[in-house]
Amino acid sequence: MSLKLEGLFKTYTQGESEVHVLKGLTAEIQPGEVVAVVGQSGSGKSTLLSLLAGLDRPSSGAILINGTNLTGKSEEAMTDFRAKNIGIVFQQFHLMSHLTALENVMLPLEILRESEIEARAKAQLEAVGLGHRLNHMPSQLSGGECQRVAIARALVVRPQLLLADEPSGNLDVETGRKVMKQFFDVVRANKTTTVVVTHSPEVAGFCDRSLILTNGAL
Ligand code: ADP
Ligand code: MG
Repeated sequence: MSLKLEGLFKTYTQGESEVHVLKGLTAEIQPGEVVAVVGQSGSGKSTLLSLLAGLDRPSSGAILINGTNLTGKSEEAMTDFRAKNIGIVFQQFHLMSHLTALENVMLPLEILRESEIEARAKAQLEAVGLGHRLNHMPSQLSGGECQRVAIARALVVRPQLLLADEPSGNLDVETGRKVMKQFFDVVRANKTTTVVVTHSPEVAGFCDRSLILTNGAL
């Protein structure tokens, strides 16, 4: 899907003080494009992703997805739109600790009342190299394996837009490299429009281009 950001502002208010994080950010991302967002800690990368995911709203400006303004949607419409179209990989994985790897990946399909849930979840775990860990609990998996479960869970609904916040940030260099290779293999194969926040020049190198977030703009 195409993504157009027009004059995005985001200000957080904390007591008396205001933090102006995004200050008129504008960008355009083409369908199937894979884009890295880089920038110093505190520059607003996670803020930008949460706006794109519709988890938070901009103070002003527009986010157009396939020409439709996300900011005009109701909370309910936004939740529904996100479930069907947007995959999110959080830095801290956010897996359900009481569910197996397979059950974690089945969950978004169950919410959408899809068919062939188990087979699709299995296939997605196999695509990230976890076909042999289906029935493990998150506590029985390594950090890299948990991250791959999180990636499989985000990809299983075949989202049109994939958002990932430092997906290799918590992994050692070697594991991060392996996980990211699988990540890019899958998004390239699916032609998924992808925005990945990263500190790693190597990860950014796998993307079509890098957007640098400084002073509230790209
Ligand atoms: P990054 O992901 O680039 O490190 P963030 O988007 O997390 O940056 O944060 C950008 C700035 O906004 C930081 O100064 C942070 O302290 C501030 N900030 C983030 N979320 C909130 C919030 N919910 N309330 C107040 N300030 C926030
Ligand atoms: Mg962040």
